[in-house]
Amino acid sequence: GKVDVECDVLVLGAGPGGYSAAFRAADLGLKVVLVERYAALGGVCLNVGCIPSKALLHVAAVMDEAAHFADLGVEFGAPKVDRAKLAAHKAKVVGKLTGGLAAMAKMRKVTVVRGYGAFIDAHHVQVELTEGEGQNKTGATQTVGFQRAIIAAGSQAVRLPFLPDDPRIVDSTGALTLEQAPKKMLIVGGGIIGLEMGTVYSTLGARLDVVEMLDGLMLGADRDLVKVWQKLNAKRFDRMMLKTKTVAAQAKPDGIWVTFEGEGAPTEPQRYDLVLQAVGRAPNGRKIAADKAGVAVNERGFIPVDAQLRTNVPHIHAIGDIVGQPMLAHKAVHEGHVAAEVCAGELKGDDVLAKSAFDARVIPSVAYTDPEIAWVGLTEDAAKAQGIAVTKGLFPWTASGRAIANGRDEGFTKLLFDKATHRIVGGGIVGTHAGDLISEIALAIEMGADAVDIGRTIHPHPTLGESVGLAAEAAEGSCTDLP
Ligand code: FAD
Repeated sequence: GKVDVECDVLVLGAGPGGYSAAFRAADLGLKVVLVERYAALGGVCLNVGCIPSKALLHVAAVMDEAAHFADLGVEFGAPKVDRAKLAAHKAKVVGKLTGGLAAMAKMRKVTVVRGYGAFIDAHHVQVELTEGEGQNKTGATQTVGFQRAIIAAGSQAVRLPFLPDDPRIVDSTGALTLEQAPKKMLIVGGGIIGLEMGTVYSTLGARLDVVEMLDGLMLGADRDLVKVWQKLNAKRFDRMMLKTKTVAAQAKPDGIWVTFEGEGAPTEPQRYDLVLQAVGRAPNGRKIAADKAGVAVNERGFIPVDAQLRTNVPHIHAIGDIVGQPMLAHKAVHEGHVAAEVCAGELKGDDVLAKSAFDARVIPSVAYTDPEIAWVGLTEDAAKAQGIAVTKGLFPWTASGRAIANGRDEGFTKLLFDKATHRIVGGGIVGTHAGDLISEIALAIEMGADAVDIGRTIHPHPTLGESVGLAAEAAEGSCTDLP
């Protein structure tokens, strides 16, 4: 068939992985085509994920903080929420960022093709052009030929098959629209996304129930961190149902009636104004005709890759949510850079670039709840499970001048050091701004720091960041076998 555009690198999907790969490849002098089905660049993260959720969480955090100010001697009136205006603010935040990406793509001469892409063979993708784009009519297609491809087609929310089609049953994308004002809301799935959205809705006035199949909320984080969040957030919830499943739901005029089964299940069906499904995300691996290019996709829809983000077809890479856990934007970005560098290195004969590989020791996780929970590297639970002996350095924020001054001293900072090597292997923080504080611990792990390195680095006083240094000093005290 006829080929409309030829390029060095085709990037399929313009999320954090895809745009990072496209921009890096262009910066390295390659001719890049970026295929995206939606008008806005930025993928899930910018449009319906990280960014809009944080825009709303910021507003919720300020509202919650203001509500406590009476205790400090300053009283505000009851907040009046204009949901449409709040949604417009969120849209403006998203627009600023996606608009910025479009400008950067143009500046770098990355050709953006709007439409749905699927492989036709190992060197061509056919794009079903999105309606209303320039001279292209509906139904029109464009064939893009490439020397290398980077698949960055991301993931989408998992839908529970037995939940009926009803506007009162939403996934995170639906929840972010703020179109509903529930009094009573059910969160199905006790992970980060569900609890972040629950925080927003609860501050806006909803009573929450959460149901989780496993025996804890925010699994992955250490229980001591989650406990602090749980204690402070208990008041938002009527029910925290653990080891419990949602088994049926009925849409009635007065609400969605949900039936549960398991340890925390109420005997009767419960009524909700809004049900948020947040039971995980599934990769889009089966939707791009990967087989036509010979690219292997596993039974769950993930595309297996090596450290160079190469699929089983050596000139085709894959990055981001579509290659596996953790499904996080910052992981996708780093993978995108590596894939682009490998492509550029090989096409331009630059051996250093061609050897680029994904070599992160750790990838931090953050729940932007209130308080925030952040962790990186080995957790205490994982150390225990794997039989790795660790020394713990713990600094409670009740001893932090800044946390006390902020009226938010409920958190703590925890560092874990390998008993054998003394090097830091993990850390966790619960408290306000924990997500902003975790990077220092990630850096320390990457640099192979020990407690002395961190504890004797002078941290500014009084800051929350100081808690990292003080946790290291606490560990130094317990590292009596230090050289
Ligand atoms: P995506 O962002 O999913 O982008 C893939 C892109 O490919 C999309 O734009 C899609 O339209 C396009 N596409 C797919 N198939 C095709 C095709 N065949 N043709 C053309 N285009 C196609 N992560 C964090 O790190 N921090 C957070 O705070 C955070 N918060 C989140 C909150 C929510 C509510 C959600 C849902 C997710 C959140 N995430 C967060 C996860 C984060 O959004 C993802 O990890 C990230 O977007 C993955 O990037 P990606 O490039 O792999 O794919």
